[in-house]
Amino acid sequence: MIAVLPGDGIGPEVAREATQVLDLLGLPWEEHVFGAAAIRATGAPLPDETLEACRLAEAVLKAPVGDPEFDAAEIRPEQGMLRLRSELAVFANLRPAKDGEIDVLIVRELIGGLYYGARGVRDDGTVFDTCEYHPSQVERVARRAFELARDRRGHLTSVDKANVLDTSRLWRRVVNELAADYPGVEVEHMLVDNAAMQLHSHPTRFDVIVTENMFGDILSDLAAAVTGGLGLAPSASLGERPPGLFEPVHGSAPDIAGRGIANPTAMLLSTALMLEHGLGRPEDARRLREAVALGLEEAPTPDLGGTATTAGLGAAVRSHLT
Ligand code: NAD
Repeated sequence: MIAVLPGDGIGPEVAREATQVLDLLGLPWEEHVFGAAAIRATGAPLPDETLEACRLAEAVLKAPVGDPEFDAAEIRPEQGMLRLRSELAVFANLRPAKDGEIDVLIVRELIGGLYYGARGVRDDGTVFDTCEYHPSQVERVARRAFELARDRRGHLTSVDKANVLDTSRLWRRVVNELAADYPGVEVEHMLVDNAAMQLHSHPTRFDVIVTENMFGDILSDLAAAVTGGLGLAPSASLGERPPGLFEPVHGSAPDIAGRGIANPTAMLLSTALMLEHGLGRPEDARRLREAVALGLEEAPTPDLGGTATTAGLGAAVRSHLT
């Protein structure tokens, strides 16, 4: 069973296109409430029932969450997202960015670093978040990145801020120690500021990039922008064992929600990543990616300069799948 979380804003609109593809492929799925919708229904962004269904699922296909109504609230939809990632122990976030000659795979550490470290307020009013990494957290995500690089073009760029941060010096040391286990992979280290510039000006020089949580968050949005925009960018989050979590990089886009014009491509390409990395169906994944490419030529949505609706692009994709 696939657990589908339709989320908020444009979430349900793009999720509908993905579940129609699952129906076409004969894959069973079940929807569960999550995010702002879940706060309204139950008071919690990740209700126990939803978490349990995700734990038992073969894979979790998640649409974006987030609602301006809760931006300043104590209980926020994004808290459910961070908790879900952590409960499923999905430490490696794969974010492929492809366009023409550009073919970069960013592997972002997902459940450590600044987003999960100690935080608080001191007596004098100073607010702090802490970036923390244990060597084992670095090792497991770096190993995953080495394995992916080995199966691709054999080049791994490890991105850090080792000239300033102790966690980055740890990161660099662990990556260097692992390199001996992967003789077919060429490793380079790059500071994050330089990596941002190179991703913008020479994106073709990269194969696999591995980096910590916040650097990966920012660099992967940049990579998405360089390769056609947020509407096209999918992601897969994997742990040691299933279920993996598959979701678009973009958010709930409240500015266009309810208008039927959201681009469903990132959600459909996340579905392809789920077929490949979550369900062991690489041939279906390849067919879906091909259908998405053909659908995009015929029926681009407004964010790509076209006039197609979400449903129109979804239907075009499905017509190439059958
Ligand atoms: P966003 O990604 O929702 O939107 C940024 C811009 O990109 C907007 O102009 C939007 O219209 C456009 N856009 C995004 N996806 C699109 C699509 N599929 N088709 C066409 N246009 C698209 O980012 P934001 O506005 O900063 O955040 C909105 C909400 O989403 C916030 O509450 C934020 O916390 C949340 N968020 C959730 C996730 C997630 O669930 N993984 C990720 C990022 C942001």
